[in-house]
Amino acid sequence: MLLLTPGPVQTHPSVRAAMAEDVAPWDSSFRPLYTRLRERIRVIAGGVEGVHVTLPLQVAGHMMMEAALRTFVPADRAVLVPVNGQYARRAVKLGRLAGRRVVELAVPDTRGVTPSEIQAALAAHPECSHVALVYSETGSGIVNDPAAIGAVVRAAGRRMIVDAVSAFGALPIDLAQQPEIDTVLFTSNKCLEGLPGFAFAVSRIDSCEAAAGHAGSWSLDLADVWANTRASGMGSLRFTGPVQSLLALDVALDRFDAEGGQPARLARYRANADALYRGLKGLGLKPYVEAAEQGPIVVTIHQPAGFVLADFVEALKRQGVLISSYYTSVQSSFRIGTIGDVHLADMEKAVAAVKAALDELGLRQAA
Ligand SMILES: *Cc1c(COP(=O)(O)O)cnc(C)c1O
Repeated sequence: MLLLTPGPVQTHPSVRAAMAEDVAPWDSSFRPLYTRLRERIRVIAGGVEGVHVTLPLQVAGHMMMEAALRTFVPADRAVLVPVNGQYARRAVKLGRLAGRRVVELAVPDTRGVTPSEIQAALAAHPECSHVALVYSETGSGIVNDPAAIGAVVRAAGRRMIVDAVSAFGALPIDLAQQPEIDTVLFTSNKCLEGLPGFAFAVSRIDSCEAAAGHAGSWSLDLADVWANTRASGMGSLRFTGPVQSLLALDVALDRFDAEGGQPARLARYRANADALYRGLKGLGLKPYVEAAEQGPIVVTIHQPAGFVLADFVEALKRQGVLISSYYTSVQSSFRIGTIGDVHLADMEKAVAAVKAALDELGLRQAA
């Protein structure tokens, strides 16, 4: 089965095979691997040794977002969230339930937020210490630009948290150039093409030290992960985790390097997304976002008349392709991921599978 979801993603067999081993996380032969992984990830983020540190948690991306909001947004301040998609909406929910004040900036889910919109919102809301920005909005496939947004955040003297869960490894980020970013967060799955199991926050050390005791949680306190690192070293895990996924990630990062790193991965995903976008449009289907707003991670398509998503997903499975059985855009849609160990030939297979599924369901005329 070809897995075309924007997480979990299709992985290479060598990545999955790396997990077939028992591991004791505190063992002297595991600690150097864990340390090296954390350093490799910091480097991909453009983090500076001694300034930034990779802080892992054995959680999903949502929980890491909660940890970042709890750790870095002071309880007496607020966080501005530009809401142009489902994942931004989830950040709002995570922040509110963690007891943080959240200011929502409504933006259509068909385009990125502009720097001037952020600038105006920050001017109107001096209570906001932070902006929480979703880099690649997996909800519809659009992309927000953290470099451009970060410039206005920095000028306004505020801080930024970047959800790069569906961006990191493909879309560029350079923490060395963006001192306003307290943390960028992501997971071992998605564009790094590892297995799920761990999330990572590459964070400023000074921000972690200033945030000690803020989180109101031990489990989800990044300042405590940093404190543990300082006390016990980069090879130390606070609690038992799915460490086999770290073995898989090590192999996945070897593959990432061999491919040519972030620029090469972006080029492959971009080519995938362009081919899929064009191919589905060629079937008469209507893309959810304009070509100029289409990011490289997931292609979202309006549901044609008479469409039932569950039936379509089953028909596609009969063609050997598995997609999400739910949609995350404002209007009803279906979505096909273009990330993971997938290539142009897989996109061609996907377009042919969609055509066959629509034919089987008698929906080609509607499209
Ligand atoms: C997938 C995703 C998440 C959530 O990750 P989980 O590991 O499923 O919790 C958060 N933000 C974005 C932008 C994502 O694409």
